[in-house]
Amino acid sequence: MQLQHADGYCRVSTPKQVKFGHALERYIEDLEFIGIDRSRIFWDVESGASSGRKGYNLILDRVIAGITKQVFVPCFDRFLRSPLLWEEALVEFRKHGATLELLSGGLIDLNSPEGIYKSRIDAAAAAYVREKNQKAALDGWARTRRLQKAVNPPFGIKVIDDKYYVNREPYPKGGSVYEVARDVGLTYISDGTKRGTIHKLVQKYGLERVGQRNGDDFTRDRNKLTIWLRNPVIRGYTCYFGNRGKQIIVSPEPTHEALFTPLEFDQIDRLLTASSRKLVPKGTLKPLSGLVFCECGSRCIKRRNHYYCCDVYDAPGSPLDCDRRGGLSIKEAEAAVIYAISLQSKMIAAFVDSPKTTQDTPEQEELKRKLILLGDDADFEESRQSILKKLSVLRHQAGSREKDFNIRREQLVTIGANPDFWNGLIETDRRFVFLQLIERVVKSRDRILRIDLAPGLGSVTF
Ligand SMILES: [Zn+2]
Repeated sequence: MQLQHADGYCRVSTPKQVKFGHALERYIEDLEFIGIDRSRIFWDVESGASSGRKGYNLILDRVIAGITKQVFVPCFDRFLRSPLLWEEALVEFRKHGATLELLSGGLIDLNSPEGIYKSRIDAAAAAYVREKNQKAALDGWARTRRLQKAVNPPFGIKVIDDKYYVNREPYPKGGSVYEVARDVGLTYISDGTKRGTIHKLVQKYGLERVGQRNGDDFTRDRNKLTIWLRNPVIRGYTCYFGNRGKQIIVSPEPTHEALFTPLEFDQIDRLLTASSRKLVPKGTLKPLSGLVFCECGSRCIKRRNHYYCCDVYDAPGSPLDCDRRGGLSIKEAEAAVIYAISLQSKMIAAFVDSPKTTQDTPEQEELKRKLILLGDDADFEESRQSILKKLSVLRHQAGSREKDFNIRREQLVTIGANPDFWNGLIETDRRFVFLQLIERVVKSRDRILRIDLAPGLGSVTF
């Protein structure tokens, strides 16, 4: 067989098949065995939610570009996961005279009606097998739950023989894991805030995490701290998905030792409830929220509804601590931003007047590509109609968005001319204007250093 211009492709459906079954390696070896060059073998690993089709798209691109005329796959269900995808691929394979060959069962003749019919059956069968496998995976979970097997131990807990135990092994930075885990909860009880708790723990144990797995060390993230403190597993119950905040408790009675006493948990719960009450509802973002940054590079967060403060722990890779953390008054920040905008108003007017080009969104592009793939084959009339309908809805939405934008832009032009403009705006409208015009506000302690306007509109230094 002359295989210099042949490609190989293979899809495995879960990372597990790569790790444990060595399925991927075996398939690649099979493809190499028949004489396909390693550099022409492509593959995808799919996991439940992600479709991971990089290798598949490459193959299709190579067929379209005429680089490959023969594609080998181990068997049909290692090529595609849905009949619809096969219809798309079929069009390209036929148009470019490429063949699809199965190591398990020879050539699929894409030029005879029988061959095409057979391939469609294969595609449907592959989809069926895939769905059956997914169901088996779900059944596996149900079995785990029924047997109350312990999984995913949170920090402070470990699993031995499918059961949870308090982890009394040494913690790499001193003491035992159990002691450090208790320290987390007790610090929270004495400090009262999650932020302060993490600050103190980081000073004591360092910012660097221990281990690779989530449960190997205490979290440096405030949201995850809440989830950990609420996790039923540290309270002695067997539970699934406790580490994601979604809980399915399967044991009505405790199954193992808890990290804290009932009295301590009571205090923790009271603090958690109190702090969640203080949370400002999502709708009340301040006009500059998300645009203010500390000189150290971290994004600032709103404190007590009046200040923007450096949030050093929320930025991965940021320094261990920041010495410029004082709060910048939200009022002053807005005044400075309005001042900067008025300074640059001439530039802004020019920016607003420049014509705006309408571009297709990725979703529109994808639909248009699909439309081309479908060609004018009468068999696909239904798919074609449904795509055309979707496209027209998207175009309509884009149109009304643009109209809205134009009205708002006219408001923006008045900024330079009318200082009263800002007084008439409610917070949400100010936020809209700021999001359009401001790239970032850089602060140090309680002072603004620099305001970067949107690209092309310059910066104002203070
Ligand atoms: Zn900072």
